[in-house]
Order: sequence, then structure tokens, then C-alpha cells
Amino acid sequence: MPFKALGLDAKILQAIAEAGYTEPTPIQAAAIPPIIAGNDLIGIAQTGTGKTAAFTLPVLTLLAAAQGKRGTKVLILAPTRELVVQIEENVLAYAKHLPLTIAKVFGGVGERPQINSLRNGCDIVIATPGRLIDLMGQGHGDFSGLQHLVLDEADRMLDMGFLPSIKRIVQKMPRKRQTLMFSATLSKEIESLTHEFQNHPKIVQI
Ligand code: AMP
Repeated sequence: MPFKALGLDAKILQAIAEAGYTEPTPIQAAAIPPIIAGNDLIGIAQTGTGKTAAFTLPVLTLLAAAQGKRGTKVLILAPTRELVVQIEENVLAYAKHLPLTIAKVFGGVGERPQINSLRNGCDIVIATPGRLIDLMGQGHGDFSGLQHLVLDEADRMLDMGFLPSIKRIVQKMPRKRQTLMFSATLSKEIESLTHEFQNHPKIVQI
């Protein structure tokens, strides 16, 4: 199946071609159409399967169609600084022909540059939960118009003890939103997160 059949934005298709991708991976082929259709989704997939593009490409397609509003429209939560950086590299590559702004938020470095990038009303925030809840507690970030929430490597975030921070962050997000979750395993804990945060999610397992 070609990427063209999945309903992605033309500028994103151009960026994918420039990245040298010829065909969607199985998780991409299964997850992209229901995400573009607006569904909540839980994807059970390991790293290396192309899962980052499986949520990034459709969310960017939806953003491209709804440009113009101020404030953050997409929040991606991930367990580690390394993963935040990696997701940003993916987003930058796929969104290279779109005028979107991105902020990275993670611990272990100074807060000031991150506060400044949140102040600029960026479209997409990619964050580890601990530092984000600290900055939100200081009044930073505008999530009042948030449309898409992504929890990447949700099982790892739970293993690392981020559940209380994640709950506090999600409580502050608009209820009318799309919520996507990715995890290597579908455990009882992940199922209970699904019930708490998602609305009739499609399950995609590869
Ligand atoms: P991930 O599972 O998201 O960590 O992705 C693993 C690697 O696969 C990354 O280096 C991506 O750039 C690459 N990748 C993702 N989707 C595709 C695709 N459809 N074709 C070729 N490479 C891809």
C-alpha cells in the first residue's frame, strides 16, 4: 500500500518522499487512517516499527488542516530526554514544509530556554512529564486549545513512576481532544489508563 492511499497531507507526503520512505510500515498502515478520522487509538508496538511516524504523520495532517489558532494544539509525552529529542527530529523532518513551531521540555537542564519557547505559544510541545508538571505549576504553557494528546512509550512512563505527573497533566487538558497512546505491551495498568484518558479507542496491535 502506498503512503498516498492513507489520506496524508500533500506537504507531508513530499517530506516523507524526501526522507526516502517508499511504503508505510504495518503500524503506520493500520494506525494512520483511524487517527486522521479523529479516533482515539492505542498502538501496541515496539521501538523500530515506525511507531513515531504512525502518530506524527496523521496528527501533522490534522494540524495542517486546522492552522491559524494560537496556543499549543499537540502535546506529546515521552519517558526520557533522549526520546523527546528523537521525536522532535521526526516531527521536524515530516513538518519541514509546514509552518509549525515546536518546544521541547525535559529535566536535567535549565528551565529558562524551555519557559521562553512555551511563552512563544508553540504549536507542538514534546515533554517528559516531570519537568512539564513543574513548568505548568509555575503557570507556563497554554493548553486551553489542545486538540491532540499523545502518550508515547506509556508502559515505560508508568515503570518510571510518572503516573501521578501524567494524571495531573491530563486533568488540565481540555476534555474534548483526541488521545493517542503507544506502548510495547498491553498490561492491566495500560488498560486502566486507556479507560481513564481515552474515548472508545481503536486498538492496533502489530
Ligand atoms: P521508530 O519505531 O519510530 O523508532 O522508527 C524506527 C526508524 O524507522 C526510524 O529511524 C524512522 O526514521 C524509520 N522509519 C519510520 N517509518 C519508515 C518507513 N515507512 N519507511 C522507512 N523507514 C521508516
